[in-house]
This record gives sequence, C-alpha cells and structure tokens, in this order.
Amino acid sequence: MDCLFCKIAVGEIPATKVYEDASCIAFSDIHPQAPVHLLIIPRQHIASLDEVRETYRELLGHLMLVAAELAKQQKLSKGFRVVMNTGVDGGQTVNHLHLHLLGGRAMHWPPG
Ligand code: AMP
Ligand code: ZN
Repeated sequence: MDCLFCKIAVGEIPATKVYEDASCIAFSDIHPQAPVHLLIIPRQHIASLDEVRETYRELLGHLMLVAAELAKQQKLSKGFRVVMNTGVDGGQTVNHLHLHLLGGRAMHWPPG
C-alpha cells in the first residue's frame, strides 16, 4: 500500500521515533507546530477516525494512553493538546489515522 505512515511504521522511510510497541509507534512531526509535536500512529493501516469500527476500541484507547504517557515523558506538566484531524474539512493530509501530541507552549482556542 502506498501510505507514508505505513512505510514509517515498517522502517522503509526514516523518522525520529520516540516510542514503539506491538501496536503503535510515535515519532516527531517533520513540520513541528509546537516545541513538542509528536505523531502517534497504529501499525495497522486505518485511514481515519471516520473508518473506525467497534473492533478498534482497544487500539484507540491504547493510542490515548500512549499520548498521555508521552506527555509525561516530555514533561508537559503545564498541559498539552491531542488532535486527530479527520477528513478534508478536518485538515487531514495523511490518510493513516494519527494523533498529534502538541505541547511546550500555550495553545489557542478556537483552532484555525
Ligand atoms: P494531518 O495534517 O493531521 O494529516 O497530519 C499529518 C502530519 O504529518 C503533518 O503534521 C505533517 O507535518 C506530518 N508529516 C508529513 N510527512 C512526514 C514525515 N515524513 N515524517 C514525519 N511527519 C510527517
Ligand atoms: Zn497506512
């Protein structure tokens, strides 16, 4: 499958990995939008949150727990933001489900 994040997951395309386990990996975003900007992706190809099924319940929960753990590891004790852009209007540009973990500066609301 011609998917950038699948290629990163199998090591075909390099990335600065900060975490990996049996079901997911986390790496630095190539265009960071904050001092800490990590992407957390499942190893399995799932195009977006719009495609998730009941069978992914545990995996999705796991991704959130990994985000919280990485926030601790990155010392984001003042707070952080987790974002999952979905579809065209959601601003998704890579069609492999991913969480953005952003921190190290104050975030704004509403987002752009
Ligand atoms: P989204 O726009 O929510 O689909 O997020 C995709 C993210 O992937 C963007 O923040 C990009 O900067 C990031 N990105 C694209 N290519 C790479 C890459 N080769 N390595 C790391 N991050 C990437
Ligand atoms: Zn993929």
